[in-house]
Amino acid sequence: MSHTVEILSVGTELLLGNIANTDAQMLSQGLSGLGLNVYWHTVVGDNPQRAREAVAIAKQRADVIITTGGLGPTCDDLTKNVLAEAFGKKLVFDEDSAQRIRDWFARNKRTMTDNNLQQAMLPEGCTVLVNDWGTAPGCAFQAEGVHVIMLPGPPSECRPMFLHRAVPYLQTLSEGVIASHTLKLFGIGESSMEAQLRDKMNAMTNPTLAPYAKEGECELRVTAKAASDEEAQALLRPTVEQVKQLFGPLVYGVDVPSLEAVVLEGLKSRGLTLGTAESCTGGLMAKRLTDISGASAVFKGGIVSYTNEVKAQLLQVPAPLLRQFGAVSAQVAAAMAEGARQALGCDVALSSTGVAGPDRDENGNEVGTAFVAIAVPGETYVRPLRLGTRPMRERIRTQVASHAFDLVRRYLSGLPYQD
Ligand code: ATP
Ligand code: MG
Repeated sequence: MSHTVEILSVGTELLLGNIANTDAQMLSQGLSGLGLNVYWHTVVGDNPQRAREAVAIAKQRADVIITTGGLGPTCDDLTKNVLAEAFGKKLVFDEDSAQRIRDWFARNKRTMTDNNLQQAMLPEGCTVLVNDWGTAPGCAFQAEGVHVIMLPGPPSECRPMFLHRAVPYLQTLSEGVIASHTLKLFGIGESSMEAQLRDKMNAMTNPTLAPYAKEGECELRVTAKAASDEEAQALLRPTVEQVKQLFGPLVYGVDVPSLEAVVLEGLKSRGLTLGTAESCTGGLMAKRLTDISGASAVFKGGIVSYTNEVKAQLLQVPAPLLRQFGAVSAQVAAAMAEGARQALGCDVALSSTGVAGPDRDENGNEVGTAFVAIAVPGETYVRPLRLGTRPMRERIRTQVASHAFDLVRRYLSGLPYQD
């Protein structure tokens, strides 16, 4: 049976725009990974009447309702009341939950007030979702053919409660197992990827293929349902292979965390070190690399050479090159990467130079014009980039850094730097 899910987030703060609905985003990502179809995101304020109306609509159209927020002890926390009432259930006192709340206050040396025990009032007959990350327990029940799951609002509670409590509950709803693999692609736009896959996607039911666009990269999730994990894997394997064949060198990994993680892993396994010389990315490459624990085995360091003086002094970029071609040029990108290899004493060096916007540079280069270079023993390669003129500084920088990482990945795999 395929389930349709509605996420119902309760909280006036969300409607006022004080906070973004990151719980819904996190839940949607997780639920689609389980192969469940999320069809609706609804947000309603802490208002009983409107919350009742929202639940009435949700129970008509969805067969799983997941609520976030409004489980706390204050009077605006109305989720349990509204949901219990909508399904004709009473709220009953749950002694186990009450004891856990008392223990939580004792452990955290906080004073408990009576209304904290309100949180132990739960719909009769529900499955209690024990909250080890905060005080308000979540709960789940089935009524009138609908599964209801209530999770707390704070993301630091909502996320672990989803992963450790709701997911196991949801897995009992689907017969058999759901398994998926995620292929990561770099160097292709989502629309062009979709265009190449559309016929295949439409024809597939098990496994299914779902594309996602992410910060200049694309992901393809292949999901299969079967009686056992082995069967699901057997269904997944040919599709994963076909997609790899179809996109060839654009696929940089399956079930890998990120391009930079692939790069670090590849360098590490060959015992190679990496360094960076960054102009337009301003340290973003170094940041993305050092976000990964264990990066120090590979990444020696980086120079943020934002001005021509620093390019000349620390990276030995020849002054005539800077004068003749300007800082944003293939020649300077190459000299920066070579200079970084020398200065940092690393095997592989990357460089970036470009115009991140919002304005053109002094030489009239358009926003989005950039060069990334890789220097390895005996060879330097420069990739020119045109990333579009829309002034989205952050996006351009992310893209430039990713292109630089892509050069390393291609070097390590013996692929051409450019298809
Ligand atoms: P508490 O016990 O802390 O009151 P709760 O389950 O009652 O938790 P709310 O009172 O609705 O949840 O929200 C508490 C806080 O959690 C909010 O101030 C907000 O910071 C965060 N939060 C609530 N809902 C969301 C959401 N949908 N996305 C992201 N953050 C949220
Ligand atoms: Mg609250």
